[in-house]
Amino acid sequence: MVEFCPECSNLLRRQVIGESKTLVCKCGFQKDLSQNAEDIKNNTKLKEEALNKNLIIVSQADKISVHPIVKKFCPKCTSKDAEAWQEQTRSADEPSTSFFRCVECKHTWREY
Ligand SMILES: [Zn+2]
Ligand SMILES: [Zn+2]
Repeated sequence: MVEFCPECSNLLRRQVIGESKTLVCKCGFQKDLSQNAEDIKNNTKLKEEALNKNLIIVSQADKISVHPIVKKFCPKCTSKDAEAWQEQTRSADEPSTSFFRCVECKHTWREY
């Protein structure tokens, strides 16, 4: 990633002092990169927390469930709600398999 100085438009040089990464310019401008990385990490964490909360809301009908419930016709009973998740079955090259578990009868099946 190449960044330019907002003060004088010169190319910023990367300087690593211990744990902290900083972009410096010969005009004296400095940009603390480790601060940015921390912000991004916090953002990601917030998103994950939001996602987790969302999943809990979705799965309230079945407290054990951690998977989202989708509209899926169960082949065993008349239920149209099923948990959905994906698993990598064999190698990473192959597409992942979609699994479904009926919320009513707990019948589990998969689709490719
Ligand atoms: Zn500069
Ligand atoms: Zn069922």
